[in-house]
Amino acid sequence: MRGIKESRRSRRSRFLRDAMVDVQIASRGICSRQVLLAMRQVPREVFLDRRFAEAAYEDSAVPIPKGQTISQPYIVARMLEAAAITKSDRILEIGAGSGYLAALAAKLGREVCAIERHETLVRRARSRLRHLGCLNVDLRHGDGTAGWPQGGEFDVILVSAASAQVPVILKTQLAPSGRLLIPLGDPDGVQWLTKLTRKADGQFVDERIEEVRFVPLVSAKEPRTS
Ligand code: SAH
Repeated sequence: MRGIKESRRSRRSRFLRDAMVDVQIASRGICSRQVLLAMRQVPREVFLDRRFAEAAYEDSAVPIPKGQTISQPYIVARMLEAAAITKSDRILEIGAGSGYLAALAAKLGREVCAIERHETLVRRARSRLRHLGCLNVDLRHGDGTAGWPQGGEFDVILVSAASAQVPVILKTQLAPSGRLLIPLGDPDGVQWLTKLTRKADGQFVDERIEEVRFVPLVSAKEPRTS
């Protein structure tokens, strides 16, 4: 009986995920086959607290603990498509929150290193990623504005929180031809999802992708209450 119920639940989840991809994402112009496939595969409700699970496939951001949010599915897709992740890419995510974006990036690339400043969120996200069998995500507790503690270079850096400027250390951790996606602007107001590409000669080219609203990127050096 339990088995039948669970399989009904997972069929419903798959149906809702497919509808989310068709109605909210593909119809708005996201056409990367890999991104659309990953979003059909990763169950978003797993990354939410039970009381918000019903909102998993709504066209909006959803609250997670510590006053944070899991981003709107369309914006997640936009960010992933703009990052143009390939199978051999090493990815750094700053602000892993629920772990949803990290799980998607892990499907697209080789390895994801992720940092989150709230320890409670780290613990929950780790157990969710383990539950889904995401073995190529290394999630750590810390301040992502200081970059990945072990150093190294990443092909893609995804900053999931808004900042007035790009933290300098992140630029130094971007490999040649690497792409960095970050919401830039007023952390409490208008922000633009911006893509920085590091050219072979070390110069950065930036491109505005879309107007967005993310929670603030909080540096340990300038503490905030949230
Ligand atoms: N991509 C996440 C979105 C989480 S919201 C998801 O899929 O759920 C952004 C997250 O950034 C929040 O959890 C917040 O705690 C975290 N954050 C903000 N500033 C940070 C910093 N300096 N270092 C690490 N995480 C940070």
